Amino acid sequence: MMNKYFSVAIDGPAGAGKSTIASTIARKFNCLNLDTGAMYRAAAIWLTERDVDVYDSEAVGRLAGEIDIDVKYVSGVQRVYVSGRDVTDELRSDEISMLASACSKYPEIRSRLVDMQRQMAKDMRVVMDGRDIGTKVLPDASVKIYLVASVEARAKRRLKQLLEKGIDATYERVLADMIKRDHDDSTREFSPLEKAQDAVALDTTSLSLEQSILRAIDIVAEKTGMTEAMCRE
Ligand code: C5P
Repeated sequence: MMNKYFSVAIDGPAGAGKSTIASTIARKFNCLNLDTGAMYRAAAIWLTERDVDVYDSEAVGRLAGEIDIDVKYVSGVQRVYVSGRDVTDELRSDEISMLASACSKYPEIRSRLVDMQRQMAKDMRVVMDGRDIGTKVLPDASVKIYLVASVEARAKRRLKQLLEKGIDATYERVLADMIKRDHDDSTREFSPLEKAQDAVALDTTSLSLEQSILRAIDIVAEKTGMTEAMCRE
């Protein structure tokens, strides 16, 4: 059946290709793309700017309701704001990755961000990527894709990205951080990283990015009955 206002949930561990695949699908099918990981990263920045230790559950729980983050689209590109300041270009460091993962285990933070995410998906064609989109944020999503890839393949890709951005990093460090983040994200109590029962699993370990993207586009077209041309208007 054709569904004009479809939603696509893309979940999976760090470095599986979620952001690139999600942004390409959004461009091709003319939808809004929400990278939800950026919101957890922004929450971590807000807390650290207030000198809050993100491992202090009492302090985080007390302040979670005040976290001031916002997401806007500037020329179609997602920008993230903390207390009104554009922090988009500061989000991707290794340090912020670990702090975001620590913040994401608190239900007070999750419920605030999930509310914002659902609000943005209302009456829109959206592609959202994260860890709990198919299981929690959009359980009725028209399309659910669960991306996986070996941790070594993901660490290699992440290292390449970091080095290209001029960020200092080593393979061993990136791999160790990724193993820890995978473990924390999939064993946390609230909304752990897991495949929704009705998600299509896509293993990208031995696929190029182009091949992964083509496969994801096929899944979206197949599940929604929509073509790229139909989404242009
Ligand atoms: O996807 P990204 O690496 O930017 O996410 C950063 C961290 O935010 C993840 O390690 C995870 O702990 C958390 N996250 C989450 N739920 C989401 C998106 C991200 O818990 N929907």
